[in-house]
Amino acid sequence: MTTSGYEAVIGLEAHVELATATKLFCGCPNEFGAAPNTHVCPVCLGLPGSLPVLNRAVVEYALRFAAALGFRVPDESIFARKNYFYPDMPKDYQISQYEEPILVDGSIEVDGVHIGIERAHLEEDTGKTTHMGGGGRIHEADYSLVDYNRAGVPLMEIVSRPDIRTAEQARAYVSELRGVLKALGVSDVKMEEGSMRVDANVSVRPVGTEAFGTKVEIKNMNSLRSLGRAIDFEIERQIAALEAGERIVQETRHWDEADGRTHGMRTKEGSSDYRYFPEPDLVPVAPSGEMRAAAAAAVPELPAARRARLVADWGVSEADARVLVDVDGLADFAAAAVDALRDGAARDVANWCTGDVMAHLNETGLSIEVLPLAPDGLAELVGLVAAGTISRNQAKDVLAECLRAPTRPAQVVAERGLEQVSDTGALAAVVDEVLAANADAVAEYRSGDDKAKKKKRGFLMGECMKALRGQGNPQLLNALLDERLA
Ligand code: ADP
Ligand code: ZN
Ligand code: MG
Repeated sequence: MTTSGYEAVIGLEAHVELATATKLFCGCPNEFGAAPNTHVCPVCLGLPGSLPVLNRAVVEYALRFAAALGFRVPDESIFARKNYFYPDMPKDYQISQYEEPILVDGSIEVDGVHIGIERAHLEEDTGKTTHMGGGGRIHEADYSLVDYNRAGVPLMEIVSRPDIRTAEQARAYVSELRGVLKALGVSDVKMEEGSMRVDANVSVRPVGTEAFGTKVEIKNMNSLRSLGRAIDFEIERQIAALEAGERIVQETRHWDEADGRTHGMRTKEGSSDYRYFPEPDLVPVAPSGEMRAAAAAAVPELPAARRARLVADWGVSEADARVLVDVDGLADFAAAAVDALRDGAARDVANWCTGDVMAHLNETGLSIEVLPLAPDGLAELVGLVAAGTISRNQAKDVLAECLRAPTRPAQVVAERGLEQVSDTGALAAVVDEVLAANADAVAEYRSGDDKAKKKKRGFLMGECMKALRGQGNPQLLNALLDERLA
């Protein structure tokens, strides 16, 4: 199968759970993991006579997001009822925003390309249904359980323009969006835990044509990796269908992680099926000038700016800057270590962080706050290498120990007797002994060609290190050897 001749057009709809203390329209805690149906009240259960009241913090979060990504915030936005019946929706309708969303027309730069975001609107989350028996699927289930703790949790739906062209770019977009939302402190944005859910709209068209093809919406991707896989599969599927002379049906398809394919679910409802109408129990959302200004003032440094700063100030690569900024708390940890640095370079701190520290976090699944190593411990380690007390290789072992148990690099060095020998007098004595004991090698070095010289010199250096049990300062040893062999 060939993908040449076609181009994919992709638009993403990201649903993000906002990390407010309480739900969107009631005072119930917005908290994951509680016993089922313990965070509920008449409002989020949709009991007759209850009335919703908009949570001010949700509006503040949306305004912060608007300020970060340049959205326009209309004077007024309105909530609407989206009518459908599903048991995880206790009211028979979902309160959402439809024709007049709170944010319009933002954009985000992803690897130098601006991806438009047509809108972001507020809505309430549904409850969670668990189908019991028959492998957890609804049509085989004996009965189903519903937990309404999530019903009424605030969601922001962020709808991109169809500006994305590849699965790779889609992943980068989500990753950047996630970084922004995390930096703003408005969501945990964890795809694996469902606090960020991304649906992908995918179509293909012959390269060089303007008109979009028929789009298919794919759901149920719960990691960046499956998002990418699902989009790639879908692009291939659509191209194959077109090549076979078939037409693409507009539908919603379900990504199956296990078989790596998308499967048709149902033809997509048109918006008319939802019989949207303005929510009569809520007034329009009209954020004041003060609220807008306060939100703009609350925007911290965004990931792109932070990466640029790390590249400029510390001399790290763009890729390393991305790791530092993307991993929770890693850039802050590195910055604290750099502040505590007395000897050595910020770049060395960054290298340890993206290298050995990251490897340890990945291996153990721990987060950086729980490491026994504090930032000033890492600064100490970098200082020990910079001062020539230990070699980089020794520092790796020392760091490994400090990542496992609460101790200090200097303490590990002292306990293990790892100090590098940097005393020139002591090193010179060893060099002289080694040269005397290997007079043949020295003679061969002196009479040999470049290749022989290199070989003999390497051998003599190795003998010196052996005599020093690997703890000789390599720079000083090299200098001494050069001097003696000249
Ligand atoms: P719907 O009416 O089905 O909700 P929208 O026009 O509101 O469709 O778009 C929903 C999402 O689909 C947006 O992210 C948009 O960028 C994307 N989209 C729209 N048309 C296409 C297309 N032809 N191919 C791929 N994505 C598309
Ligand atoms: Zn409630
Ligand atoms: Mg739409």
